[in-house]
Amino acid sequence: FPSDRPADLESQPARIDTTKPHPARIYDFLLGGKDNFQVDRDAAEKVVAAVPSARAEVAANREFLRRVVTYAAGQGIFQFLDIGTGIPTVGPTHEVAQRVNPLARVAYVDNDPIVLAHSRALLTTNDRTFTVQADVREPDTILRHPAVRELLDFEQPIALMFVGLLYFVDDGEDPWSLVARYRDALSPGSHLLLSHVIDTVETRNAAKAYETATSGLSPRSPGQITAMFDGWQIVEPGIVPIHDWRPDGGETFAGQLLGGIGRLV
Ligand code: SAM
Repeated sequence: FPSDRPADLESQPARIDTTKPHPARIYDFLLGGKDNFQVDRDAAEKVVAAVPSARAEVAANREFLRRVVTYAAGQGIFQFLDIGTGIPTVGPTHEVAQRVNPLARVAYVDNDPIVLAHSRALLTTNDRTFTVQADVREPDTILRHPAVRELLDFEQPIALMFVGLLYFVDDGEDPWSLVARYRDALSPGSHLLLSHVIDTVETRNAAKAYETATSGLSPRSPGQITAMFDGWQIVEPGIVPIHDWRPDGGETFAGQLLGGIGRLV
């Protein structure tokens, strides 16, 4: 496992910008976390005004993450590339995966420096995880990153995770081609774990809360979300409302996100 921490992890103090809402911190507030600032809380309140179920939606998304990671680990996958990690919260990917396979390794990637700041503490307790600050829109940076390459063996199946992420990439930046770029770097047996906000009157209104944020929010139709699985064999029960994806009794009802798993054959 990586013995040399890359310079970006060790040397740079995280620069936390409190003048604009940040998606990671809005999400943290909606989950009941404390790693957020007034500007994020104000934006989150606008999200709740537009989508009254917003807190249940984000809770349901975390439960979806738990179920899909458990599923992938149960399929024998022991490597996870979790892009758009979020601020560490209850049930992070490595804990869920390592419950199934203690040898599971997780490379975390997020573009928000606050996520990196928190990951430093995590690294001291778990040497099978690693966090890189990078942008999903730069697949080459992530796929060629020395720490990612050292932790994950791309000749073996990897679970590629875009859970609650790609609605922060707008149509002009073509999230469909992006998913394909990552797909083409992976081996057969790899899995795509993805959830995405659906285009509804409520989520369009919620998107207004992100107009002043570091990233806009692009809700999409079920057809547009399903198209992200192009080239992947979709696992039952398909691309469905996240609470309907293999419920195990722990799920919260949510109507504003779709999700599912694809398998590379
Ligand atoms: N995946 C976690 C989950 O489902 O609970 C967190 C989802 S949170 C809604 C979205 C995360 O994506 C935030 O931490 C945000 O910083 C990150 N993010 C947004 N745009 C990004 C980008 N262009 N590149 C990398 N990460 C990004």
